Amino acid sequence: MRPDTYTKNPDGSIAIGGISLQDLAREFGTPLYILDYASIVRRMQHYRDALQSMRPAGRAAYAGKAFLCRAMVEVVQQQGLMLDVVSGGELFTALKAGFPAEQIIFHGNVKTDEELELGLTAGVGQFVVDSLSELERLDRLARRFSRQAPVLLRITPGIDAHTHDFIRTGHFDSKFGFGLADDIADQAMELALASEHVTTNGFHAHIGSQILETDPFVANAEALLRFSRRWHERAGFWPRVLDIGGGIGVRYDETDTPPVLDVIVQRVERALEALTPPDLEPPQVIMEPGRSIVAEAGATLYTVEAEKTVAGGKMYVAVDGGMGDNIRPALYQARYGAEVDGKRDDAPDCVATLAGRYCESGDILIEGASLKRPQVGDLVAVWATGAYNYSMASTYNRVPRPAVVAVYEGTADLWVERETWEDVMRLDKPLKFAQRRVNA
Ligand SMILES: *Cc1c(COP(=O)(O)O)cnc(C)c1O
Repeated sequence: MRPDTYTKNPDGSIAIGGISLQDLAREFGTPLYILDYASIVRRMQHYRDALQSMRPAGRAAYAGKAFLCRAMVEVVQQQGLMLDVVSGGELFTALKAGFPAEQIIFHGNVKTDEELELGLTAGVGQFVVDSLSELERLDRLARRFSRQAPVLLRITPGIDAHTHDFIRTGHFDSKFGFGLADDIADQAMELALASEHVTTNGFHAHIGSQILETDPFVANAEALLRFSRRWHERAGFWPRVLDIGGGIGVRYDETDTPPVLDVIVQRVERALEALTPPDLEPPQVIMEPGRSIVAEAGATLYTVEAEKTVAGGKMYVAVDGGMGDNIRPALYQARYGAEVDGKRDDAPDCVATLAGRYCESGDILIEGASLKRPQVGDLVAVWATGAYNYSMASTYNRVPRPAVVAVYEGTADLWVERETWEDVMRLDKPLKFAQRRVNA
């Protein structure tokens, strides 16, 4: 839930990465996204080493949509992970930051011609194809640019992971992938094998996010292996790569118990041994963690700006950020934990609703948070905001987006500057229409 390097002094002052929240707020202002560099690197290394230990050696790809900026791309490269992108913008960021194109996996149920062209000409490592029309389009564009498009087919294995409806993707009624329930996945395979400018390397399935069990990951690998066996019998095709997606859950509060990566890896390895035909090499396994790399490494620091108690005695504590920097509570009832800085253990407790500053009643960060009683001007940290916060941020209400700062052993490294009011207006143009009345 809290970053690995979290410490709290007897006076209640909190530090991350060896820097006090007070110092971070003074230097960078609030709201502020803070990332604990050591937490990120440790998790990347765990994934990299766990997959590397498989036979044959697997790979981890960081799913950039959880959190991406130039510096993060550089960290992914330093740690030897591959990188997942889901749009031209993420791909552009990766390429501009110098990430090797062949280590990039290009996802997304929509890829425009412009995006496919960028991927093809840059030499992206795998295109994860999501529809028959995309397969045709990719073949046509690859022919035009005299390329061979490396492809994984996205399969929908029909696995119903227990998570929020909006972040389930492996069940049959999903907008993602080719379902195994009917013959659509077989049609995709037929088309892929017949497409001259497409090289089919294997299969991909991502079954959802914030999954707190082990079995769905193993069932996913087994479903892909059974599909592979069918195509081996039918056409002699055997995958070189099985990409089993991301989705491993994290601790948003004390009640969450995430699955153990090493157990997943061992059980997937056993499935590979059991389901690979005797004369063949098991495919290389790729896992694509996003949330489980960055969520718990991150915190958002706010300043308490207002307090009120409404009829019935409920207390609201309002901070200088909210749904613009963290849409997840409003979008899918996400739970978070928070802590007030600078409160000794014997300071009075309270239960309060941590509210944002945006003009929506739904802009509530935490309903019924247990806090040391805050006062206007206090700093509040909301934990585990490293994933799907900055990457989903907006300028709703024309509130500029916060800065992102990484911390490590007493040093702060500014990864993304705070937006300004000028930035918010930067693309605006003055009115051209001269009419004061509209001709009706
Ligand atoms: C979002 C996504 C991931 C990462 O999911 P997490 O829950 O953040 O680990 C991996 N693969 C694909 C295809 C995704 O869309």
